[in-house]
Amino acid sequence: MRLSQLFTRTEKEAPKDEASVNAQLLERAGFVYKNNSGIYTYLPLGWRVINKITAIIREEMNAIGGQEMFMPALVDKRYMDSTGRWDVEVAFEAKGKKENEARFTLGWTHEEVITEIASKYISSYKDLPFSSYQIQTKFRNEPRAKSGLLRGREFLMKDLYSFHASEEDFLRYYEKVRGAYHKIFERCGLKSFYTLAAGGDFTASNTHEFQVLAPVGEDTIFICSKCEYAENKEISSLANGGLCLKCGGKVREEKSVEVGNIFPLGTKYTEALNLQFTDERGNKEFVVMGSYGIGLGRLMGTVAEIYHDKNGLIWPESIAPYKFILITLDHTKEEGDKLYQKLLEQGAEVLYDDREDKTAGEKFADADLLGIPIRLVISPKTLKEKSVEMKMRGKKVTELTKLKEVEEKLDLS
Ligand code: ATP
Ligand code: MG
Repeated sequence: MRLSQLFTRTEKEAPKDEASVNAQLLERAGFVYKNNSGIYTYLPLGWRVINKITAIIREEMNAIGGQEMFMPALVDKRYMDSTGRWDVEVAFEAKGKKENEARFTLGWTHEEVITEIASKYISSYKDLPFSSYQIQTKFRNEPRAKSGLLRGREFLMKDLYSFHASEEDFLRYYEKVRGAYHKIFERCGLKSFYTLAAGGDFTASNTHEFQVLAPVGEDTIFICSKCEYAENKEISSLANGGLCLKCGGKVREEKSVEVGNIFPLGTKYTEALNLQFTDERGNKEFVVMGSYGIGLGRLMGTVAEIYHDKNGLIWPESIAPYKFILITLDHTKEEGDKLYQKLLEQGAEVLYDDREDKTAGEKFADADLLGIPIRLVISPKTLKEKSVEMKMRGKKVTELTKLKEVEEKLDLS
Protein backbone atom coordinates (compact mmCIF):
# COMPACT_ATOMS: atom_id res chain seq x y z
CA MET A 1 0.00 0.00 0.00
CA ARG A 2 1.30 3.43 -0.93
CA LEU A 3 0.95 5.90 1.90
CA SER A 4 0.28 8.63 -0.66
CA GLN A 5 -2.89 6.73 -1.63
CA LEU A 6 -4.04 5.65 1.83
CA PHE A 7 -7.56 6.80 2.70
CA THR A 8 -6.53 8.04 6.15
CA ARG A 9 -3.94 10.47 7.50
CA THR A 10 -2.19 10.71 10.82
CA GLU A 11 -2.91 13.58 13.21
CA LYS A 12 -0.35 15.47 15.24
CA GLU A 13 -2.63 15.97 18.23
CA ALA A 14 -4.53 13.40 20.25
CA PRO A 15 -8.34 13.70 20.04
CA LYS A 16 -9.68 15.87 22.87
CA ASP A 17 -12.62 13.69 23.78
CA GLU A 18 -10.70 10.49 24.46
CA ALA A 19 -9.23 9.63 27.84
CA SER A 20 -7.77 6.21 27.12
CA VAL A 21 -4.40 5.63 25.48
CA ASN A 22 -5.76 3.04 23.05
CA ALA A 23 -8.37 5.43 21.64
CA GLN A 24 -5.96 8.38 21.49
CA LEU A 25 -3.29 6.46 19.61
CA LEU A 26 -5.59 4.46 17.35
CA GLU A 27 -7.51 7.58 16.31
CA ARG A 28 -4.41 9.71 15.82
CA ALA A 29 -2.78 7.04 13.71
CA GLY A 30 -5.94 6.55 11.62
CA PHE A 31 -6.80 2.99 12.68
CA VAL A 32 -10.28 3.85 13.95
CA TYR A 33 -12.79 6.68 13.67
CA LYS A 34 -15.08 7.50 16.54
CA ASN A 35 -18.66 7.88 15.32
CA ASN A 36 -20.17 8.12 18.77
CA SER A 37 -19.35 7.19 22.34
CA GLY A 38 -18.55 3.47 22.25
CA ILE A 39 -19.17 3.30 18.48
CA TYR A 40 -16.16 3.09 16.19
CA THR A 41 -15.40 2.55 12.53
CA TYR A 42 -12.41 0.35 11.75
CA LEU A 43 -10.56 2.25 9.03
CA PRO A 44 -8.39 0.34 6.51
CA LEU A 45 -5.36 0.06 8.83
CA GLY A 46 -7.46 -0.94 11.84
CA TRP A 47 -9.45 -3.43 9.81
CA ARG A 48 -6.22 -5.14 8.76
CA VAL A 49 -5.36 -5.60 12.44
CA ILE A 50 -8.83 -6.99 13.13
CA ASN A 51 -8.43 -9.40 10.21
CA LYS A 52 -5.12 -10.64 11.60
CA ILE A 53 -6.74 -11.24 14.98
CA THR A 54 -9.70 -12.93 13.29
CA ALA A 55 -7.37 -15.30 11.41
CA ILE A 56 -5.62 -16.33 14.62
CA ILE A 57 -8.92 -16.90 16.40
CA ARG A 58 -10.28 -18.95 13.49
CA GLU A 59 -7.21 -21.18 13.42
CA GLU A 60 -7.42 -21.92 17.11
CA MET A 61 -11.20 -22.40 17.14
CA ASN A 62 -11.06 -24.72 14.14
CA ALA A 63 -8.25 -26.66 15.83
CA ILE A 64 -10.58 -27.61 18.69
CA GLY A 65 -13.37 -28.59 16.34
CA GLY A 66 -15.32 -25.33 16.32
CA GLN A 67 -17.47 -24.99 13.21
CA GLU A 68 -17.87 -21.42 12.02
CA MET A 69 -21.34 -20.09 11.31
CA PHE A 70 -23.10 -16.71 11.30
CA MET A 71 -26.30 -15.89 13.18
CA PRO A 72 -28.68 -12.95 12.75
CA ALA A 73 -28.07 -9.66 14.53
CA LEU A 74 -31.86 -9.20 14.76
CA VAL A 75 -32.86 -11.58 17.54
CA ASP A 76 -36.54 -12.48 17.80
CA LYS A 77 -38.26 -11.45 21.04
CA ARG A 78 -39.57 -14.97 21.58
CA TYR A 79 -36.03 -16.30 21.98
CA MET A 80 -35.26 -13.86 24.77
CA ASP A 81 -38.69 -14.34 26.35
CA SER A 82 -37.96 -18.05 26.65
CA THR A 83 -35.19 -17.30 29.17
CA GLY A 84 -36.58 -14.05 30.57
CA ARG A 85 -33.77 -12.00 29.06
CA TRP A 86 -35.86 -9.65 26.90
CA ASP A 87 -35.84 -6.92 29.53
CA VAL A 88 -32.13 -6.81 30.41
CA GLU A 89 -30.91 -3.24 30.59
CA VAL A 90 -28.04 -3.50 28.11
CA ALA A 91 -30.32 -4.48 25.25
CA PHE A 92 -31.11 -2.21 22.29
CA GLU A 93 -34.58 -2.90 20.94
CA ALA A 94 -35.09 -2.94 17.18
CA LYS A 95 -38.46 -1.77 15.95
CA GLY A 96 -39.82 -1.22 12.45
CA LYS A 97 -40.79 2.43 11.85
CA LYS A 98 -44.47 1.53 11.52
CA GLU A 99 -44.59 -0.92 14.41
CA ASN A 100 -45.71 0.04 17.87
CA GLU A 101 -43.62 -2.48 19.72
CA ALA A 102 -40.19 -3.97 19.15
CA ARG A 103 -40.21 -7.58 18.01
CA PHE A 104 -36.44 -7.88 17.95
CA THR A 105 -33.43 -7.06 20.04
CA LEU A 106 -30.07 -6.25 18.46
CA GLY A 107 -28.14 -9.39 19.43
CA TRP A 108 -26.08 -8.83 22.57
CA THR A 109 -25.49 -12.60 23.00
CA HIS A 110 -26.70 -15.69 21.13
CA GLU A 111 -27.26 -18.60 23.53
CA GLU A 112 -31.00 -18.72 22.88
CA VAL A 113 -30.64 -18.50 19.11
CA ILE A 114 -28.09 -21.28 18.75
CA THR A 115 -29.89 -23.52 21.24
CA GLU A 116 -33.08 -23.35 19.22
CA ILE A 117 -31.20 -24.04 15.99
CA ALA A 118 -29.47 -27.01 17.63
CA SER A 119 -32.80 -28.49 18.68
CA LYS A 120 -33.55 -29.13 15.01
CA TYR A 121 -30.41 -31.26 14.55
CA ILE A 122 -29.79 -32.90 17.90
CA SER A 123 -31.92 -35.78 19.05
CA SER A 124 -29.54 -38.58 20.01
CA TYR A 125 -26.32 -38.96 22.01
CA LYS A 126 -24.80 -39.79 18.60
CA ASP A 127 -25.30 -36.14 17.56
CA LEU A 128 -23.13 -34.94 20.45
CA PRO A 129 -20.76 -33.34 21.22
CA PHE A 130 -20.41 -30.44 18.81
CA SER A 131 -19.28 -26.84 18.97
CA SER A 132 -19.90 -23.88 16.76
CA TYR A 133 -18.81 -20.26 16.73
CA GLN A 134 -19.31 -16.98 14.96
CA ILE A 135 -17.49 -13.67 14.70
CA GLN A 136 -20.06 -10.93 14.71
CA THR A 137 -21.06 -7.51 15.97
CA LYS A 138 -22.75 -7.44 19.37
CA PHE A 139 -24.81 -4.53 20.66
CA ARG A 140 -24.91 -3.50 24.30
CA ASN A 141 -26.05 -0.19 25.65
CA GLU A 142 -23.06 0.13 27.96
CA PRO A 143 -23.35 2.98 30.45
CA ARG A 144 -19.56 3.28 30.76
CA ALA A 145 -18.36 3.51 27.16
CA LYS A 146 -15.31 5.62 27.97
CA SER A 147 -12.33 3.37 27.35
CA GLY A 148 -12.10 3.43 23.57
CA LEU A 149 -12.12 -0.03 22.04
CA LEU A 150 -12.14 -1.66 25.46
CA ARG A 151 -15.85 -1.01 25.99
CA GLY A 152 -17.98 -0.46 22.94
CA ARG A 153 -21.74 -0.19 22.60
CA GLU A 154 -21.29 -1.95 19.29
CA PHE A 155 -18.33 -4.36 19.27
CA LEU A 156 -16.95 -7.45 17.57
CA MET A 157 -17.14 -10.70 19.47
CA LYS A 158 -16.16 -14.25 18.75
CA ASP A 159 -18.71 -16.42 20.52
CA LEU A 160 -18.35 -20.19 20.66
CA TYR A 161 -21.02 -22.53 22.01
CA SER A 162 -20.54 -26.19 22.87
CA PHE A 163 -23.11 -28.97 23.37
CA HIS A 164 -22.50 -32.19 25.34
CA ALA A 165 -24.18 -35.36 26.53
CA SER A 166 -22.61 -35.13 29.99
CA GLU A 167 -21.01 -32.77 32.46
CA GLU A 168 -17.74 -34.76 32.21
CA ASP A 169 -17.62 -34.36 28.47
CA PHE A 170 -18.34 -30.64 28.85
CA LEU A 171 -15.50 -30.24 31.37
CA ARG A 172 -13.02 -31.92 29.05
CA TYR A 173 -13.97 -29.48 26.30
CA TYR A 174 -13.83 -26.51 28.68
CA GLU A 175 -10.16 -27.33 29.31
CA LYS A 176 -9.52 -27.52 25.57
CA VAL A 177 -11.02 -24.07 25.11
CA ARG A 178 -8.88 -22.81 27.97
CA GLY A 179 -5.77 -23.99 26.11
CA ALA A 180 -6.95 -22.49 22.81
CA TYR A 181 -7.65 -19.14 24.50
CA HIS A 182 -4.18 -18.93 26.04
CA LYS A 183 -2.72 -19.65 22.61
CA ILE A 184 -4.83 -16.97 20.92
CA PHE A 185 -3.82 -14.28 23.40
CA GLU A 186 -0.18 -15.36 23.36
CA ARG A 187 -0.10 -15.25 19.56
CA CYS A 188 -1.45 -11.69 19.77
CA GLY A 189 1.37 -10.77 22.16
CA LEU A 190 -0.63 -10.88 25.39
CA LYS A 191 -0.01 -12.80 28.56
CA SER A 192 -3.40 -13.79 29.97
CA PHE A 193 -4.24 -14.97 33.48
CA TYR A 194 -6.92 -17.64 33.86
CA THR A 195 -9.07 -16.09 36.57
CA LEU A 196 -11.90 -17.53 38.63
CA ALA A 197 -14.88 -15.19 38.32
CA ALA A 198 -18.52 -14.74 39.27
CA GLY A 199 -21.44 -16.44 37.59
CA GLY A 200 -22.58 -13.32 35.78
CA ASP A 201 -25.82 -13.13 33.81
CA PHE A 202 -25.55 -16.59 32.39
CA THR A 203 -25.07 -19.09 35.16
CA ALA A 204 -24.96 -19.48 38.91
CA SER A 205 -21.73 -21.49 38.91
CA ASN A 206 -18.26 -19.95 38.61
CA THR A 207 -16.97 -18.82 35.26
CA HIS A 208 -13.42 -18.06 34.13
CA GLU A 209 -11.99 -14.90 32.70
CA PHE A 210 -8.80 -14.32 30.75
CA GLN A 211 -7.31 -11.21 32.27
CA VAL A 212 -4.43 -9.15 30.90
CA LEU A 213 -2.61 -6.92 33.39
CA ALA A 214 -2.95 -3.23 32.51
CA PRO A 215 -3.53 -0.10 34.58
CA VAL A 216 -6.44 0.94 32.32
CA GLY A 217 -8.37 -2.24 33.20
CA GLU A 218 -11.74 -2.01 34.90
CA ASP A 219 -11.21 -5.29 36.74
CA THR A 220 -9.15 -6.00 39.82
CA ILE A 221 -7.70 -9.45 40.30
CA PHE A 222 -5.61 -11.20 42.93
CA ILE A 223 -2.76 -13.29 41.50
CA CYS A 224 -0.33 -15.64 43.18
CA SER A 225 3.18 -14.51 42.29
CA LYS A 226 4.39 -18.11 42.41
CA CYS A 227 1.81 -20.35 40.69
CA GLU A 228 -0.21 -17.59 38.96
CA TYR A 229 -3.51 -18.81 40.35
CA ALA A 230 -5.88 -15.85 40.00
CA GLU A 231 -9.30 -14.78 41.24
CA ASN A 232 -11.43 -11.77 40.37
CA LYS A 233 -11.73 -9.44 43.37
CA GLU A 234 -15.54 -9.51 42.99
CA ILE A 235 -15.66 -13.07 44.33
CA SER A 236 -12.23 -13.56 45.83
CA SER A 237 -11.36 -14.83 49.27
CA LEU A 238 -7.73 -13.85 48.66
CA ALA A 239 -6.14 -10.61 49.85
CA ASN A 240 -3.30 -8.38 48.69
CA GLY A 241 -0.13 -9.56 50.42
CA GLY A 242 -1.89 -12.72 51.66
CA LEU A 243 -1.02 -16.34 50.87
CA CYS A 244 -2.21 -18.36 47.88
CA LEU A 245 -4.73 -21.11 48.64
CA LYS A 246 -3.11 -23.43 46.14
CA CYS A 247 0.63 -23.14 46.79
CA GLY A 248 1.23 -20.74 49.69
CA GLY A 249 2.88 -18.17 47.42
CA LYS A 250 2.41 -14.45 47.94
CA VAL A 251 -0.72 -12.88 46.47
CA ARG A 252 -0.70 -9.47 44.81
CA GLU A 253 -3.47 -7.20 43.54
CA GLU A 254 -3.50 -5.99 39.92
CA LYS A 255 -5.68 -3.97 37.55
CA SER A 256 -6.62 -5.96 34.47
CA VAL A 257 -8.64 -6.13 31.26
CA GLU A 258 -10.95 -9.09 30.65
CA VAL A 259 -10.17 -10.10 27.07
CA GLY A 260 -12.08 -13.37 27.19
CA ASN A 261 -14.64 -15.15 29.32
CA ILE A 262 -15.77 -18.78 29.40
CA PHE A 263 -18.98 -20.02 30.98
CA PRO A 264 -20.37 -23.36 32.05
CA LEU A 265 -24.07 -23.05 31.22
CA GLY A 266 -25.27 -26.42 32.53
CA THR A 267 -28.78 -27.09 31.22
CA LYS A 268 -30.17 -23.58 31.76
CA TYR A 269 -30.71 -22.83 28.06
CA THR A 270 -31.46 -26.35 26.92
CA GLU A 271 -34.24 -26.60 29.52
CA ALA A 272 -35.65 -23.20 28.56
CA LEU A 273 -35.70 -24.11 24.86
CA ASN A 274 -36.32 -27.80 25.40
CA LEU A 275 -33.17 -29.19 23.78
CA GLN A 276 -33.13 -32.88 24.73
CA PHE A 277 -31.35 -35.96 23.48
CA THR A 278 -31.90 -39.67 23.91
CA ASP A 279 -29.04 -41.37 25.76
CA GLU A 280 -27.66 -44.87 25.17
CA ARG A 281 -30.32 -46.45 27.37
CA GLY A 282 -33.14 -44.61 25.64
CA ASN A 283 -33.70 -41.98 28.35
CA LYS A 284 -34.41 -38.34 27.49
CA GLU A 285 -31.86 -35.89 28.92
CA PHE A 286 -31.17 -32.19 28.58
CA VAL A 287 -28.04 -31.25 26.64
CA VAL A 288 -25.19 -29.66 28.68
CA MET A 289 -23.79 -26.41 27.27
CA GLY A 290 -20.88 -24.02 27.52
CA SER A 291 -20.30 -20.59 25.97
CA TYR A 292 -17.01 -18.86 25.32
CA GLY A 293 -16.42 -15.23 24.28
CA ILE A 294 -13.55 -13.07 23.08
CA GLY A 295 -13.85 -9.37 22.29
CA LEU A 296 -11.81 -8.66 19.15
CA GLY A 297 -11.82 -4.86 19.50
CA ARG A 298 -11.08 -5.10 23.20
CA LEU A 299 -8.16 -7.39 22.39
CA MET A 300 -6.83 -4.89 19.82
CA GLY A 301 -7.29 -2.02 22.27
CA THR A 302 -5.49 -3.95 24.98
CA VAL A 303 -2.53 -4.59 22.69
CA ALA A 304 -2.41 -0.82 22.00
CA GLU A 305 -2.49 -0.13 25.74
CA ILE A 306 0.46 -2.44 26.36
CA TYR A 307 2.55 -1.98 23.22
CA HIS A 308 3.27 1.71 22.74
CA ASP A 309 5.76 4.40 23.71
CA LYS A 310 5.62 8.18 23.67
CA ASN A 311 5.99 8.18 19.90
CA GLY A 312 3.18 5.80 19.07
CA LEU A 313 2.05 2.21 18.63
CA ILE A 314 4.39 -0.81 18.58
CA TRP A 315 2.49 -3.71 16.98
CA PRO A 316 3.53 -7.29 17.62
CA GLU A 317 4.36 -8.68 14.19
CA SER A 318 1.56 -11.26 14.36
CA ILE A 319 -1.21 -8.64 14.22
CA ALA A 320 0.56 -5.64 12.68
CA PRO A 321 -1.35 -4.14 9.73
CA TYR A 322 1.85 -4.36 7.66
CA LYS A 323 5.19 -5.99 8.48
CA PHE A 324 7.34 -3.37 6.73
CA ILE A 325 7.22 0.36 6.28
CA LEU A 326 9.45 1.47 3.42
CA ILE A 327 10.52 5.12 3.45
CA THR A 328 12.26 7.03 0.70
CA LEU A 329 14.21 10.21 1.48
CA ASP A 330 15.63 12.98 -0.69
CA HIS A 331 14.42 12.03 -4.16
CA THR A 332 15.13 8.31 -4.06
CA LYS A 333 11.63 7.47 -5.23
CA GLU A 334 12.84 5.61 -8.28
CA GLU A 335 14.87 3.16 -6.19
CA GLY A 336 12.05 3.04 -3.64
CA ASP A 337 9.50 2.09 -6.30
CA LYS A 338 11.78 -0.68 -7.47
CA LEU A 339 12.29 -2.17 -4.02
CA TYR A 340 8.57 -1.82 -3.23
CA GLN A 341 7.77 -3.80 -6.37
CA LYS A 342 10.28 -6.52 -5.47
CA LEU A 343 8.86 -6.83 -1.98
CA LEU A 344 5.30 -7.08 -3.30
CA GLU A 345 6.35 -9.77 -5.75
CA GLN A 346 7.56 -11.81 -2.82
CA GLY A 347 4.25 -11.42 -1.03
CA ALA A 348 5.55 -9.04 1.65
CA GLU A 349 3.10 -6.81 3.48
CA VAL A 350 4.56 -3.36 2.90
CA LEU A 351 3.34 0.12 3.58
CA TYR A 352 5.33 2.35 1.27
CA ASP A 353 5.84 5.96 2.33
CA ASP A 354 6.31 7.39 -1.15
CA ARG A 355 5.10 10.88 -0.20
CA GLU A 356 7.32 13.53 -1.70
CA ASP A 357 5.87 16.49 0.18
CA LYS A 358 6.96 15.22 3.62
CA THR A 359 10.21 15.80 5.45
CA ALA A 360 12.35 12.98 6.83
CA GLY A 361 11.25 14.02 10.32
CA GLU A 362 7.58 13.79 9.41
CA LYS A 363 8.04 10.40 7.78
CA PHE A 364 9.92 8.98 10.77
CA ALA A 365 7.34 10.36 13.18
CA ASP A 366 4.52 8.76 11.18
CA ALA A 367 6.35 5.43 10.99
CA ASP A 368 6.70 5.47 14.78
CA LEU A 369 3.08 6.49 15.33
CA LEU A 370 1.77 3.73 13.02
CA GLY A 371 3.91 1.18 14.83
CA ILE A 372 4.84 -1.01 11.84
CA PRO A 373 7.43 -3.59 13.06
CA ILE A 374 10.26 -3.13 10.52
CA ARG A 375 11.29 0.23 9.04
CA LEU A 376 13.30 0.26 5.82
CA VAL A 377 14.82 3.56 4.69
CA ILE A 378 16.33 4.36 1.32
CA SER A 379 18.33 7.59 1.02
CA PRO A 380 21.25 8.86 -1.08
CA LYS A 381 23.47 7.82 1.83
CA THR A 382 22.26 4.21 1.93
CA LEU A 383 22.30 3.98 -1.85
CA LYS A 384 25.96 4.86 -1.90
CA GLU A 385 26.49 1.58 -0.06
CA LYS A 386 23.91 -0.17 -2.31
CA SER A 387 22.02 -0.68 0.92
CA VAL A 388 18.87 0.07 2.81
CA GLU A 389 18.75 1.08 6.47
CA MET A 390 16.76 -1.24 8.67
CA LYS A 391 15.31 -0.59 12.13
CA MET A 392 12.88 -2.45 14.35
CA ARG A 393 10.10 -0.31 15.88
CA GLY A 394 10.78 0.09 19.59
CA LYS A 395 14.55 -0.43 19.18
CA LYS A 396 17.19 2.23 18.64
CA VAL A 397 19.79 0.39 16.58
CA THR A 398 19.78 0.72 12.83
CA GLU A 399 21.74 -1.46 10.45
CA LEU A 400 22.59 -1.31 6.80
CA THR A 401 21.52 -4.30 4.75
CA LYS A 402 22.44 -4.79 1.11
CA LEU A 403 19.54 -3.98 -1.19
CA LYS A 404 20.11 -7.25 -2.95
CA GLU A 405 19.61 -9.17 0.25
CA VAL A 406 16.39 -7.37 1.06
CA GLU A 407 15.11 -7.99 -2.44
CA GLU A 408 15.86 -11.68 -2.24
CA LYS A 409 15.51 -12.69 1.36
CA LEU A 410 12.41 -11.48 3.07
CA ASP A 411 12.52 -13.01 6.49
CA LEU A 412 14.48 -10.20 8.06
CA SER A 413 13.42 -10.69 11.66
P1 ATP B 1 -17.58 -7.03 31.00
O1 ATP B 1 -17.51 -7.80 32.27
O2 ATP B 1 -16.30 -6.41 30.61
O3 ATP B 1 -18.73 -6.08 30.91
P2 ATP B 1 -18.97 -9.27 30.00
O4 ATP B 1 -18.53 -10.22 31.03
O5 ATP B 1 -20.33 -8.72 30.04
O6 ATP B 1 -17.89 -8.09 29.88
P3 ATP B 1 -19.12 -11.32 28.01
O7 ATP B 1 -20.56 -11.38 27.79
O8 ATP B 1 -18.44 -12.36 28.78
O9 ATP B 1 -18.71 -9.89 28.56
O10 ATP B 1 -18.43 -11.13 26.59
C1 ATP B 1 -17.35 -11.91 26.13
C2 ATP B 1 -16.18 -11.02 25.80
O11 ATP B 1 -16.58 -9.95 24.94
C3 ATP B 1 -15.57 -10.32 26.99
O12 ATP B 1 -14.65 -11.15 27.64
C4 ATP B 1 -14.90 -9.14 26.34
O13 ATP B 1 -13.64 -9.51 25.78
C5 ATP B 1 -15.83 -8.79 25.22
N1 ATP B 1 -16.72 -7.69 25.59
C6 ATP B 1 -17.78 -7.71 26.42
N2 ATP B 1 -18.38 -6.53 26.49
C7 ATP B 1 -17.68 -5.71 25.66
C8 ATP B 1 -17.82 -4.35 25.28
N3 ATP B 1 -18.79 -3.60 25.75
N4 ATP B 1 -16.91 -3.85 24.40
C9 ATP B 1 -15.93 -4.60 23.90
N5 ATP B 1 -15.75 -5.89 24.21
C10 ATP B 1 -16.61 -6.44 25.08
MG1 MG C 1 -17.26 -11.04 31.76
